Amino acid sequence: MLAPTPTQGGCLSRLRLVGGRASSLQLEGILEWIKDGEIEITRRGNLQHRSLLPPTPLVLQKLQDLKLIGSPETDQLRNIMLSPMAGIDTKMVMDTSLWAKEWEKYLQDHRELKDLSAKFSIGFDGGETVSITHLLNDVLVSAIDPASVVIFLSDPVGVVVPVQEVIDVLQTIVFLYMNFTKAATTKPRLKEMVANYGIESVWHRVEQKLGKKFDRLSKLTDKNPSFSCLGVFHQNNDAYFAIGVAIPSSRLAAMELQKLKQIADRFGTGELRFTPWQSILIPFVHRSFVAESLKQITEMNLSVTDQPPITACAGLACNSSFTDTQTNAKELSQQTKARSITIHLSGCARLCAYSIPHHFLAIGVSPGVYALYHDQKKLTECTDRELLTVVANYQNLPKANLSATKI
Ligand code: SF4
Repeated sequence: MLAPTPTQGGCLSRLRLVGGRASSLQLEGILEWIKDGEIEITRRGNLQHRSLLPPTPLVLQKLQDLKLIGSPETDQLRNIMLSPMAGIDTKMVMDTSLWAKEWEKYLQDHRELKDLSAKFSIGFDGGETVSITHLLNDVLVSAIDPASVVIFLSDPVGVVVPVQEVIDVLQTIVFLYMNFTKAATTKPRLKEMVANYGIESVWHRVEQKLGKKFDRLSKLTDKNPSFSCLGVFHQNNDAYFAIGVAIPSSRLAAMELQKLKQIADRFGTGELRFTPWQSILIPFVHRSFVAESLKQITEMNLSVTDQPPITACAGLACNSSFTDTQTNAKELSQQTKARSITIHLSGCARLCAYSIPHHFLAIGVSPGVYALYHDQKKLTECTDRELLTVVANYQNLPKANLSATKI
């Protein structure tokens, strides 16, 4: 927000929402920011907006007053991910939202951290059914039981830490990371520090600084990773439900956001949760209002069950894009619907907006040309004009694996 990027589609500002959450009051501030434009939900549950001019000082002040922007030095480090069901999931081991708040405050109060890479991120997993454990975060804090967590740093071997010591351990990791950053010429990622020292040496340094020993634990592969947060979820309080709404192309016009806000105000607590799967969750809907909420969501032409068959990144609004993904997505939408095909269009190989598995993945490789993939295999290269016919000729393939993102 404080350093918007000029792009082909206008000035790009990104609002970092802690845990993807926005209260009713904060949503009012967001609506003032985007005026009659649109927001784009990112793969970290943040919000992006493109406009002709950067946000005015008045808008920035309002967003800062609403705690949607942190201190000017460390706002870019507020990359704090929670499960959208944090605090309300029926199977969760613990509520991680308090840690997210504590970490946000730590960043706010420690402006010397400004030198860390802006990509530094933390995920807090409370053992929710809608899990974030397979999503990319530099640090993952994962609840084992109500008294302990395991902390991982881009390596499968983590340390088991009692809950009351979690923030101390995180601060020690950041202390080591700061020292490593000071000795480097560029802003290194945390994983570079881990690669440089070796994970065992990192844990040893943490133990030495804190004068404690921690057991090691290896990460298990999540056999049922969450790829969406859609549908009606029972909350841990019997009377309440959370409703996950799919957002086509992860974009929402101001009027649509306003309408979802009204539904949340009327039937929930006014809060919306933007998810890492680029959908929206409306929590705390009383059982007596679920039917009416679903009716109003359907009237908006939004679905709570179907993943959008076609998703696309910002395309030509982004300086790196080779292809007009947004226009091509609209052109393909009828075809994909009629043939039950799903596809993601990406303007380049960074795959910023690819968060759910699709049958096909089309990556812009040169102006107006896509490379088409299925399950990590490249099928062909074709122009955007040919894409429709090519896709139509590859019907009935099983859905591709998310590991296709490793292409
Ligand atoms: S995937 Fe590439 S083109 Fe698309 S938004 Fe990301 S960087 Fe830009």
